Amino acid sequence: ETQSPKRSSVEVLKEQSNYLIGDLKEQLANDSDHVTEDGYNLLKFSGMYQQDDRDQRKSRRTQGLDKAYSFMVRSKLPGGIVSSKQYLVHDELAGRLGNNTLRFTTRQGIQLHGILKGDIQTLLQELNNALVTTLAACGDVVRNVMACPAPEYDREHALIQQVAQQIEAHFLPRADSYYDLWLEGEKQETETAVYTSSVDDVEPIYGKTYLPRKFKIGIAFPHDNCVDVFTQDIGIVPVLKGESLQGFNLVVGGGMGMSHTMRDTFPRLADKLGFVQPDDLIKALEVIVGIQRDYGNRENRKRARMKYLIHDWGLEKFRDEFNQRFGKTIDSWLDVGDFKLLDHLGWHPQGNGLYYYGIPIENGRIHDTADVQLRSGLKSIAETFDAEFRITGQHNILVCNLKESDLEPLLAILKTHSIKTKDEISKARRYAMACPAMPTCGLALAESERYLPSFIDQLERELKTLGLDQEDVSIRMTGCPNGCARPFTAELAFVGKSLAAYNIYVGGSFEGLHLTELYQELVKEKDLIPTVMPLFKLWKDQRNLREAFGDFCRRLGVENLKTQAAALVS
Ligand code: SF4
Repeated sequence: ETQSPKRSSVEVLKEQSNYLIGDLKEQLANDSDHVTEDGYNLLKFSGMYQQDDRDQRKSRRTQGLDKAYSFMVRSKLPGGIVSSKQYLVHDELAGRLGNNTLRFTTRQGIQLHGILKGDIQTLLQELNNALVTTLAACGDVVRNVMACPAPEYDREHALIQQVAQQIEAHFLPRADSYYDLWLEGEKQETETAVYTSSVDDVEPIYGKTYLPRKFKIGIAFPHDNCVDVFTQDIGIVPVLKGESLQGFNLVVGGGMGMSHTMRDTFPRLADKLGFVQPDDLIKALEVIVGIQRDYGNRENRKRARMKYLIHDWGLEKFRDEFNQRFGKTIDSWLDVGDFKLLDHLGWHPQGNGLYYYGIPIENGRIHDTADVQLRSGLKSIAETFDAEFRITGQHNILVCNLKESDLEPLLAILKTHSIKTKDEISKARRYAMACPAMPTCGLALAESERYLPSFIDQLERELKTLGLDQEDVSIRMTGCPNGCARPFTAELAFVGKSLAAYNIYVGGSFEGLHLTELYQELVKEKDLIPTVMPLFKLWKDQRNLREAFGDFCRRLGVENLKTQAAALVS
């Protein structure tokens, strides 16, 4: 008798949930302000996380109260595209049903926070009326497909946006549960996808248990890796010869998340799988997703991402399996030249007589404070111009389809609301990213979004003293090693280890082509600046011509850096 393989409780839940419905209808109808653990796991597939306000935990406990529960709801916007009307719907909902803030994500989505359980359905219905879905924005499925958001109207940029939409539609879950739970069974008519093979009548690609873990796809250009393509489960790089599309290079097995305590978990950059013809792209993606569905780890969720399958198998075995399912041998990777990174901020022509303007959004958080009225400013921009908004992979926003004469009034709106342009902030702030962490994320071990701005304030002063304030440096902070702000490809990263203490990583690259290495463990907040400034000093003194900070740290190596930094401060 063969023993069935061990499976995690989430796998059993998915299988028994009848395509993710489980007992959610009863749970959503009852009086409780929160759902059970099983409900929480099933709701992820509808694009939301149950959270609680961690700032309130202690005081509520002393008052004998339960946690202050609410939900984060994430909209799925392939390629980060949202019309100004759709943006205004998000803004209005954030005010009426949320906590008065919006959050642009590092995967080009929009999150609303602080939604009460009883308001979720209204929220999803109103988003649906605006043709926005949250289906599969979270959960063990193909998530929001990233693509370079730059709206240049040349063939290649338009093409990758189309491809992102096509991939999105192809991998959208097909079961009716989302529509039954939230939209009174009204399923939107989408183009019927044609699948290469089908494992299940209801969910042809996913089957009853969906994927072992989340699955990320992103499309980049070699000259513009703004989607961090090597951190994706599948990264796609179009190959063009002049105006004509030759096909797509594919990379597989990237991923950021790890656990501080499990040594066999780690961030990983994707490997080059090969090159496919334009007509074979969707089939190739389906084959890769299918391999992960069938062989990915379903026992241990911490080792369930496809990067571990590829690490454990080796790329050759993975490619053999791919070739067998694909029905032919994948072609070799085609050289596409050097990868660079553009953040698209500032004023740029689109190529069709119109322009776009990229505005930096610190940590992706849209809210009004006494100092900066960012939410009111973006609302005013959306109301004033017949524009399209595009969210970037660095949680910034591009206001697109502007006329030349729109620049002046746009800058006036920014000024009135004290919103800074790229030229009014330091390079360190411009390229910095942070995850939401406290107080909403249940996994956060330390602050991130709320702490990074004041950290950058201090760092800016120190860098100015060294004359390094005009240098490009990518700095990222996360509240835990799950890595939502992609810290492990940054040049300098701070990853929460415990309350107000971080592990410091160095040596990633500005273009997202290298992984960081651990430099120092468990550094207290107050010691972060004194720990990293010697590294900047060494960089200033010893860098090769135009050598980037991350490349310098990688060239010297962590041990060498430690020794030299210690000598500097002694
Ligand atoms: Fe939460 Fe960790 Fe992601 Fe930050 S990196 S949002 S703390 S899971």
